[in-house]
Amino acid sequence: AYDVLVVGGGPAGAAAAIYAARKGIRTGVAAERFGGQVLDTMAIENFISVQETEGPKLARELEEHVKQYDVDIMNLQRAEKLIPAAEQGGLHEVKFANGASLKTRSLIVSTGARWRELGVPGEQEYRNKGVAYCPHCDGPLFKGKRVAVVGGGNSGIEAAIDLAGLVAHVTVLEFADTLKADEVLQRKLRSLANVDVITSAQTTEVLGDGKKVNGLIYKDRVTDESKTVDLEGVFVQIGLLPNSEWIKDTLEVSKFGEIEIDNRGQTSISGVFAAGDVTTVPYKQIVIAMGEGSRAALSAFDYLIRN
Ligand code: FAD
Repeated sequence: AYDVLVVGGGPAGAAAAIYAARKGIRTGVAAERFGGQVLDTMAIENFISVQETEGPKLARELEEHVKQYDVDIMNLQRAEKLIPAAEQGGLHEVKFANGASLKTRSLIVSTGARWRELGVPGEQEYRNKGVAYCPHCDGPLFKGKRVAVVGGGNSGIEAAIDLAGLVAHVTVLEFADTLKADEVLQRKLRSLANVDVITSAQTTEVLGDGKKVNGLIYKDRVTDESKTVDLEGVFVQIGLLPNSEWIKDTLEVSKFGEIEIDNRGQTSISGVFAAGDVTTVPYKQIVIAMGEGSRAALSAFDYLIRN
């Protein structure tokens, strides 16, 4: 059995594994995709002390750093169930999709988050045929074409600014009556000639010709009118969902599905900790996830020496 098993290999999980391993305790990391969301990111300019890096490079460096220590890295492992220890200080068990199971004295859950979907007709049908979630991955596919960005928060406006440099035209659709992004991003957006912003717009359908996207319908929430925008791509940027489905019936989660933790990263189950985007901690960022992962590992160590 492990002393510390980390489930999730993004920034939070990598930090947790390094901090645990540095205590000389038996540590493992199991992840569906080592690197996590960072793999889908291009320019990172707020990873403090590193002026500029790229996601795939940072993901590689995370893995290399973890590999400096005696940590078992188990990639392509999808956790499906947690069976908490029957008694205080006992072994927790994590079951994986491939049938494997791992036992551990303490567990750190750092399964992160993923993009939220619109849930409108056409979205699934045209996924990867014009409907996209990752501007950094799919932006170049729309070079010279017209796209919409659904969502006027930071990620939506960042996406719109990014895409405006590649595509012919960007329409930003925001459900609320104002954009939610930081003012500095909005200012940048307004300086771009090929971007239109439509607020109070509820996206109701993604249109296509059977093969690819050719439009989008939104309802003007002020007039109740339905309007069509002709375009070739729709980038959905309406927030992140925590990857907590596999564990949310076992421990306490918020109404958004985020794992509830205390100020030591402890969940509602003794010996089970959580860190990063999957938790209630606000501001889902790389440096925050790393700090949280480190703290969860120190808390797990503290738990181990008392149990
Ligand atoms: P994640 O990175 O989501 O990692 C989760 C890990 O858990 C992955 O290894 C995943 O495969 C694994 N996992 C999930 N479910 C399971 C399961 N059931 N079983 C096993 N493993 C599982 N932050 C910044 O600070 N600066 C930026 O510039 C920035 N830009 C971003 C751009 C994009 C496009 C995206 C998507 C995110 C960006 N972020 C940025 C946010 C940042 O990437 C996240 O806050 C950070 O990656 C969260 O780390 P995490 O370890 O909590 O989760």
